[in-house]
Amino acid sequence: MRIEVDLDLCQGHAMCELEAPAVFSVPRKGKVSVTDPRPPDGERAAVEAAVRYCPTQALKLLDD
Ligand code: SF4
Repeated sequence: MRIEVDLDLCQGHAMCELEAPAVFSVPRKGKVSVTDPRPPDGERAAVEAAVRYCPTQALKLLDD
């Protein structure tokens, strides 16, 4: 799996970091950075939750 971020949409709400802290990192004032753009399958549920709960739909999970 692979993660795509639309930084134009990201508003730094950090819901993604809350759901998948091993994959996303959001500074106090700023936009998300994906610390693991190709996370292992064990992170799938957490990443799916991050995608679902991102308030601006800035995240996409793609399968290779
Ligand atoms: S939850 Fe969405 S808007 Fe918030 S930091 Fe993560 S990607 Fe950006």
